[in-house]
Amino acid sequence: MNAHAPLPSTECGVSVRAEHGQRAVFCGLTGIVWLHRKIQDAFFLVVGSRTCAHLIQSAAGVMIFAEPRFATAIIDERDLAGLADMNEELDRVVTRLIERRPDIRLLFLVGSCPSEVIKLDLSRAALRLSRRLAPDVRVLNYSGSGIETTFTQGEDACLASLVPELPEAATTDELLVVGALADVVEDQFARLFSDFGIAARFLPARRAGQMPPVGRGTRFLLAQPFLADTARALEERGARRIAAPFPLGAEGTTEWLRAAAEAFGVDPARFEAVTAPGLRRSRQALAAYAEKLAGKRVFFFPDSQLEVPLARFLSREMGAELIEVGTPYLHRGHLAAELEWLPDGTAVVEGQSLDDGLDRCRLARPDLTVCGLGLANPLEAEGLTTKWSIELLFTPIQGYEQAGDLAELFARPLERRARLEV
Ligand code: SF4
Repeated sequence: MNAHAPLPSTECGVSVRAEHGQRAVFCGLTGIVWLHRKIQDAFFLVVGSRTCAHLIQSAAGVMIFAEPRFATAIIDERDLAGLADMNEELDRVVTRLIERRPDIRLLFLVGSCPSEVIKLDLSRAALRLSRRLAPDVRVLNYSGSGIETTFTQGEDACLASLVPELPEAATTDELLVVGALADVVEDQFARLFSDFGIAARFLPARRAGQMPPVGRGTRFLLAQPFLADTARALEERGARRIAAPFPLGAEGTTEWLRAAAEAFGVDPARFEAVTAPGLRRSRQALAAYAEKLAGKRVFFFPDSQLEVPLARFLSREMGAELIEVGTPYLHRGHLAAELEWLPDGTAVVEGQSLDDGLDRCRLARPDLTVCGLGLANPLEAEGLTTKWSIELLFTPIQGYEQAGDLAELFARPLERRARLEV
């Protein structure tokens, strides 16, 4: 049975309500696909089933010749029946792995539904293995289980597990940018911050030994909207969040940068001078897609937690009309600036009742439906045009130079549909 609990609307006039029921989202293991590319000397060992192995293998599209930086320690039926000592087996697998891959500096034991079901304590396993493998390899753990996490929460859990390990900050004048960004995007942001005169560090760093320090006085800027636990862990270490929208589109990027610049006392004239070229380029790039997206009616199913910032971008910068913005979780604090920017009356739905969402979507017949892979094919078969939300995680979309690519991701399925209908 589905329960619909109306929540108080936000002060900005957006209508937010919570919905409970069946969900159709990937589990948090999916995050390994982009995280293993980001931290170059880390390895992700999923302690899970063959299903888990298939999920990340197919999501990552790993070829048989590749030497990937993730694997699955399979819990088979014998283990589930409690006949084998999983801890001994895990130690054996990790020992073999480290012998074969001496380049690994950081090993994540990633929990799954099966490891949770058999109550395998991965935090104790991580401590035991860390002691044995120190100082060469650090072992951490987090859960990517579908019981506990959806899709992007895997990144949140991974980064939150890193926070207690971060060195204590000696100085208080560094900016910490939090959230996995494609290297090319990170480099662009690092240059902009440097031109403002701000020393910026990024979490996660590209190498285990270069993770940024944190401490009282650290100010951090979230680069992704799904990092609630990581933000809380940083705040517990004394860091303070800089309130900002997210760096999607020309406007989002400018205001995200401005929030940091103001927090660090950057002269407004210097801010304008540094941002002007990127802002101009991004506006030009967006103009090429404005005609294709203006007036298009868009429906978001809850999936990646990027929905609210993406909806804001489509509505404010591309002139799209928002029918419904579904999101698995809504952090009202972290998304305050984004909610403020949504048009009055926008229907934001937190959580999911899959059948009800599908009914509303079918009734509305949107021009574009942003949804998970599992929903896309059936909806396409019904004549709806869809965008896979997972692509928005695998593609660099943040910042000025990527604003045009972001718009293109939404324009492409509309063009494809138009060609098919000619
Ligand atoms: S963690 Fe759970 S939901 Fe994810 S692939 Fe494994 S069994 Fe499936």
